[in-house]
Amino acid sequence: MRVLVSGGAGYIGSVTAARLLARGWSVEILDDLSTGHVAAVPPGAVLHRGRLEDRDLLARVFARPFDGVVHFAARSLVAQSQARPLDYWRDNLGAAVALLERLVAGGAARCVFSSSAAVYGEPPSVPIPEDAPLAPVNTYGRTKLAMEQILADAARAHGLAAVALRYFNAAGADGQRGEHHEPETHLIPRLLRSLLDQAVEFQIFGDDYPTPDGTCVRDYVHVADLAEAHALALEWADRPGFTPLNLGGGRGWSVREVLDAVARATGRALAPAVAARRPGDPARLVASNERARQLLGWRPAHSDLPQIVADAWAWHRAHPSGYGD
Ligand code: UDP
Repeated sequence: MRVLVSGGAGYIGSVTAARLLARGWSVEILDDLSTGHVAAVPPGAVLHRGRLEDRDLLARVFARPFDGVVHFAARSLVAQSQARPLDYWRDNLGAAVALLERLVAGGAARCVFSSSAAVYGEPPSVPIPEDAPLAPVNTYGRTKLAMEQILADAARAHGLAAVALRYFNAAGADGQRGEHHEPETHLIPRLLRSLLDQAVEFQIFGDDYPTPDGTCVRDYVHVADLAEAHALALEWADRPGFTPLNLGGGRGWSVREVLDAVARATGRALAPAVAARRPGDPARLVASNERARQLLGWRPAHSDLPQIVADAWAWHRAHPSGYGD
């Protein structure tokens, strides 16, 4: 298969690109490197540096058609999306529409789209199936939902075979590739960075949630399992239609349980301060992953929390300043 990976220099995108190459497929990456890292681009992938909205660049990249596209390139910081919503609407939708126009112009193709559990907002219950109410509570989640709707329209009208993968909490590292965001807002990398760098402060955001230990419960899914799901989805998507699939380990872990796992993996004692709740954090997010298991034959084989934390810790220790760029 010949595959284009937009955003393939980012965290999940680069691990996925490496996984597609390991399948023996030909991989090209389009990334403007605004948040991605050249060092994350796997050897063997062609890197086109630029934006999807650059029509001339896109025409050159699509001079030879692709069998499939995996679309990661998007803004993805929840707090930033609340402060600068118009940037998110313009960039996330503009990039998606530009890519889909190009795909549709070249005839039907496969498109695997990087979506998020953020499309569910505050779910009425967990585990969350794909047909749960779609009620995002922040601009980031609303742009992801709008992009899913655009994909569904394109599938209906233009014969696209589209799969939206709704990730729960992506975490862990895969060999040479790990999580390096600036700023880093996510629980596991923030915690690990605070152990390596005294200047990084770590706090628990709220311990008065209606959960067993009062801290938020999340479903952590190993980035290697996410990458495998993209490869499986590309293989599976051989007929027109739109299919949303949850990708989560299917079990919830509280923030305090993550702290315990990090203490065990690192041998460090942790006693972080408890701060106020972070606005917009639902108490519990846990995936039902039945549909991905059934349709794709996917298994979250690496998504046990101790393994996620061990792999993330190994990467952070080997890369104390991330990709160093
Ligand atoms: N969290 C925390 N301290 C931090 C970062 C995150 O207590 O420095 C909590 C956060 O409130 C949430 C959970 O960890 O309950 C996971 O947050 P993260 O940002 O990793 O993912 P999200 O679920 O928001 O996508």
